[in-house]
Amino acid sequence: MRLAVILVVLLGRPALADIPRVMTDVPAVHSLAAQVMGDLGTPGILLDRGADAHHFQLRPTQARALSQADLVFWVGPELTPWLERALDGIGGEAQSVPLREMTNAHEPEDEDAHANAHDHDAIHAWLDPGVAGNWVDEMAHHLSGADPDNAAVYAANARQAKERIAATARAVEEILAPVGEGPIVTYHDAYGPFADAFGLIIAGSIAEGDAAAPGAGRLFDLRAMLADSGAVCVFPETQQDPALVRTVTEGTNARIGAALDPSGSTLEYGPDLYSELLTTLARRIADCAAGR
Ligand SMILES: [Zn+2]
Repeated sequence: MRLAVILVVLLGRPALADIPRVMTDVPAVHSLAAQVMGDLGTPGILLDRGADAHHFQLRPTQARALSQADLVFWVGPELTPWLERALDGIGGEAQSVPLREMTNAHEPEDEDAHANAHDHDAIHAWLDPGVAGNWVDEMAHHLSGADPDNAAVYAANARQAKERIAATARAVEEILAPVGEGPIVTYHDAYGPFADAFGLIIAGSIAEGDAAAPGAGRLFDLRAMLADSGAVCVFPETQQDPALVRTVTEGTNARIGAALDPSGSTLEYGPDLYSELLTTLARRIADCAAGR
């Protein structure tokens, strides 16, 4: 009798027990996954608060969490090449879902001379709300595959998430409207997807590729670029030393804006982060352009 009761208790709640364990890499992916999972569960995240999305490593505790995951939603090997190796070597059952590869598979190859300069930009694809919407669909698809009982819930959550992303995009358009085509300069090549989505003009970036400090020649070129482009604002980044931005901007007419956080690692992690990430970027850019 007692055994029967225990069995009923154990078997009576398969829905909860079968919710896939989800691990994510960066805050935007975590936020989107949290929205798709909704009340069913909470995804884990590898990037620590305040950390640089390009330079973080897997801790032993995280390796364990990764080995216990059912699904790993991550941007892809261009951002965290070590994660692919970790997933291979960890011996877990986790299904790897590199979102950029899954959703950009049919994108035409960019063969022009600027392809290299835009490669790094493209890694930050989460800054394009259209891409985020595609990722939400991809997540719902994989969650439903792993947990068919809750497929309707994931689908409804995904619809809601995409409505929220669309509303955020409209809010960002409104915030950025006064900026128009006034060119800005950013710390590193991270904002291409954001600029393309919202019609911002980015005259250039200070750090080449992956946050390397420029030499004297590059500094001279950067000052010339700043003057020639008529850039109104130069933006430091929250994870980077602002001294470089001050050096480059010295003696030019450009203003220094509030530090931008393209990964969102300084924001509070959770379902609200994605909207907060885009609107915060937009507000900081608009504030500097308006001289606030
Ligand atoms: Zn980057």
